Amino acid sequence: MSDEPSADEEVCGDSYDHDVVVDHEDADGIQWHCARSECGVEVWDPAPITEQ
Ligand SMILES: [Zn+2]
Repeated sequence: MSDEPSADEEVCGDSYDHDVVVDHEDADGIQWHCARSECGVEVWDPAPITEQ
């Protein structure tokens, strides 16, 4: 009963966008984290591979 996720609960990155802070960015991709302490997600987004 108590383990059911609340449909009313707001989820960062789902109900609203992450508060993105870019830590590192280069040709290989972007490392960023969410500034909201209750979220704390860290993400590495690889840059699209462009063949030359
Ligand atoms: Zn977040």
